[in-house]
Amino acid sequence: MKKLILTVIPLALLLGGVLYFVNHHKSADQQSSNQLRVVTTNSILEDMVRQVAGDKVALHSIVARGVDPHEYEPKPTDISETTQADVIFHNGLNLETGGSGWFSKLIKTAHKKDREQVFEASDAVTPLYLTTNQSEQDPHAWLDLGNGIRYVETITAVLKAKDPKHANYYQERSDTYLAKLKKLDAAAKEKFLDIPEKQRLLVTSEGAFKYFSKAYHVIPAYIWEINTESQGTPEQMAEVLAKINASEVKALFVETSVSPKSMAQVSKETGLPIYSKIFTDSLAKKGEIGDTYYDMMKWNLDKIHQGLSDY
Ligand SMILES: [Zn+2]
Repeated sequence: MKKLILTVIPLALLLGGVLYFVNHHKSADQQSSNQLRVVTTNSILEDMVRQVAGDKVALHSIVARGVDPHEYEPKPTDISETTQADVIFHNGLNLETGGSGWFSKLIKTAHKKDREQVFEASDAVTPLYLTTNQSEQDPHAWLDLGNGIRYVETITAVLKAKDPKHANYYQERSDTYLAKLKKLDAAAKEKFLDIPEKQRLLVTSEGAFKYFSKAYHVIPAYIWEINTESQGTPEQMAEVLAKINASEVKALFVETSVSPKSMAQVSKETGLPIYSKIFTDSLAKKGEIGDTYYDMMKWNLDKIHQGLSDY
């Protein structure tokens, strides 16, 4: 009898534990299965999805804030989140191709298919091409708010199609957000015209401002064209110094997601100050200035305008 009790009690406890575990996990699963699971490759797309979707989706963003998204090594959590995702947004336009294409490897591992679960936020953008390699697209389309607006429209359409029961909610939030972006874009188109053209040279480390320069009438100059190539070679330095010397520019800029070393060198050689940090491939950490796409664009526009003006 004693022996029987000793066997039955642990068995009952074990069974209870298993039942608790099953129930607990069932409710957690049911909860998450109600929400669309979305993965974004970087913080700019993460914010755009959040602005449109609010708290209606479960969202995982891959490349950390302040980190270069061109080259990346996915972590185990990135692989499991991507495997479980209903929708995956990437920038496209040759952004996530460094390190021999980390993103295409990731979606292959996660068994996800293009246009079924995988969507390019830049789908509606007219691409610009690299100067140093005319067959490669320049990824930095979002730095023109007109393109950011196209990203948001694409994201909204995908979310509505994948989660129709929240379609009205997504559309309403998207409309409010787009109105705010359109207002900033309209102001930016006039913003730099009060600065003499010889002073309107925007000097950065990476040549990320092609789309921005075209939209807002500044002239881009850079040390290297794209973060996936070698950075700050003597030839690249000589070229940017020549451009600066031929202009009347008064200040330099450095991006938050690159090493400031090369720009410090340019500053030393030209005697020009680095006026401000600006945002290109990543938002600021949450809670800091520039932690949303709108705020990063507003910051860039204001700082670049101040730095290029007489001050
Ligand atoms: Zn970049």
